[in-house]
Amino acid sequence: MTPKVARFLAEKAPATPCLVLDVDRVAENYARLRAAMPLARIYYAVKANPAAPILARLVALGSSFDAASFNEVKACLAAGAAPSAISFGNTVKKERDIAAAFAEGVTMFAFDSEEELGKLARSAPGARVYCRILVENAGAEWPLSRKFGCEVAMARRLMIRAGELGLDPYGLSFHVGSQQTDTAAYQAAIGKVAMLFTDLRESGVKVRMVNLGGGYPVRYRTEVPEIGDFGAAIMAAMAEHFGNDLPEMVIEPGRFLVGDAGVVASEVVLVSRKAEDDPVRWVYLDIGRFGGLAETEGEAIRYAIRTPHDGQPDGPVTIAGPTCDSADTLYEKSNYRLPLALKAGDRVELLSTGAYVTTYASQGFNGFAPLAEHYV
Ligand SMILES: *Cc1c(COP(=O)(O)O)cnc(C)c1O
Repeated sequence: MTPKVARFLAEKAPATPCLVLDVDRVAENYARLRAAMPLARIYYAVKANPAAPILARLVALGSSFDAASFNEVKACLAAGAAPSAISFGNTVKKERDIAAAFAEGVTMFAFDSEEELGKLARSAPGARVYCRILVENAGAEWPLSRKFGCEVAMARRLMIRAGELGLDPYGLSFHVGSQQTDTAAYQAAIGKVAMLFTDLRESGVKVRMVNLGGGYPVRYRTEVPEIGDFGAAIMAAMAEHFGNDLPEMVIEPGRFLVGDAGVVASEVVLVSRKAEDDPVRWVYLDIGRFGGLAETEGEAIRYAIRTPHDGQPDGPVTIAGPTCDSADTLYEKSNYRLPLALKAGDRVELLSTGAYVTTYASQGFNGFAPLAEHYV
């Protein structure tokens, strides 16, 4: 938790649940990432946290943006981003949203299918397009499965087709999965993309950009490699496969830029047991899966939790949210322990919750309001 967030919580004691996020920390993370990968252009993945103060700060720092919908495109423009600094990076877009973004001056679009290419050729003629290829997501705590991307042989054919359709076959992209804890995942993906890149060049396609996607991890309960380790691994792989003829490099960090800038403040609603001699207590918080903690699905992302009694004797707990849905159980199998003194009314903090929380909050399931947000 940054000193600014701690001060805000202490002085304002805001109503819970809420997210408090230090925008200066976002700027620090941006600087760390630039230092780790100075040759890559940074496109912030807006979906991680689209709050206006974050977008405005990143515009001021010279960031570009990866938008997934026309509303995200508009949010970037409203924050002052130039249309040329926005990539419409979702491979699944309505054609009228492509047309609307193109009319606003956006000229960079992702695709992974023939049909999407047709939409782009009709509604964003001449635009720079890049094809997303499928890569392994092993090592990612929040993998993306096979939802996006296509196999290399198909990508090759689609990139050639893009040129025939009057589009600019600009680049290739991949995404190694979110909260990727293994630097080797990027190296393997770069090897795959580089072969296709070279092949396309030899076939006369003027491909010139490689988009390495996002995935750079945040520290939750356990250590992860430093961002410098990812930068070093990525640059070594790029040099190995491209030599001195490096393509333009793009990265799309989301979680890394905003995750550790934010803290969710919550209140304990109830501490109970299922039997008098049951060693496991159930701790019900006023935020859960439907209040924004969607990434606790499958206990994939395991947030660190601070309480007023830290350092005192603790015991095993199951942690759940406040709604009347059994899916709203956060952690049952991940060996969480919390102080035995914890009781209803205590305020607790969930650390590094700046990414993928506010926008996942439901509209009012069981009457609980969407998550409040404070940017300091
Ligand atoms: C979600 C997403 C990102 C950001 O991923 P992080 O793991 O948050 O860095 C980047 N690119 C694309 C295409 C995405 O869908």
